[in-house]
Amino acid sequence: MNIIFLGPPGAGKGTHAADFSKELGIPHISTGEIFREAVKNETPIGLKAKEFMDRGELVPDEVVVDVVLDRLKRDDCQKGYILDGFPRSLPQAEMLGQKSDSELTAVIYFETCKDVILMRLTGRWMCRGCGKGYHIKNLPPKVAGVCDECAGELYQRADDKVDTIEHRLTVYNQETKTLIDYYKNKDILIQVNGDFEKQEGHEELEGVFTKLKSNASC
Ligand code: AMP
Repeated sequence: MNIIFLGPPGAGKGTHAADFSKELGIPHISTGEIFREAVKNETPIGLKAKEFMDRGELVPDEVVVDVVLDRLKRDDCQKGYILDGFPRSLPQAEMLGQKSDSELTAVIYFETCKDVILMRLTGRWMCRGCGKGYHIKNLPPKVAGVCDECAGELYQRADDKVDTIEHRLTVYNQETKTLIDYYKNKDILIQVNGDFEKQEGHEELEGVFTKLKSNASC
């Protein structure tokens, strides 16, 4: 099960990837989360990535691809993985195809409308400790400002400000959207409804994974 979750910011990729990673026993690899961790720890990659992330721009392809290829070599990816937020440009997709040993099973594309994206991102809170995502209305924590899972402090991402969100969407339309056709042409694209609330979206994805598993066992 080598899966890519593709879609705009705020499509629910991270939320569903976290759940299905547990259900399927494969790692959830979020490049955004890897970079946020690197920024927090002030590593050389974090220092490089920060300026791009703060502006809502893409971190350069070579930097991202190296990080992902290294991560895919780890033992926990033997049974598969869910890539969330990668690839985000045609060169990244091509380099993944050329340089990774593992063949992709499917690319799941979350089609999502702009109103839903804005509503989700402007109300989003994240845990500083474990990275778990919350939403003030749709998925509030039990205690305001505190993570249910690890009691870490919740914060709003700097790039979840309205101006930066608009810019991230422009970047998505210019750089990432082209991957829908790229993977459609490879016959591995599966479209799901990114506008669904969490439970409905989970059920749709459960159907997708059940089919993928039965195809794999044929
Ligand atoms: P995300 O958490 O997926 O929204 O990513 C947060 C930020 O990390 C993005 O706005 C980019 O600046 C950077 N980033 C994450 N993944 C990639 C990628 N595949 N290519 C370039 N930049 C990325």
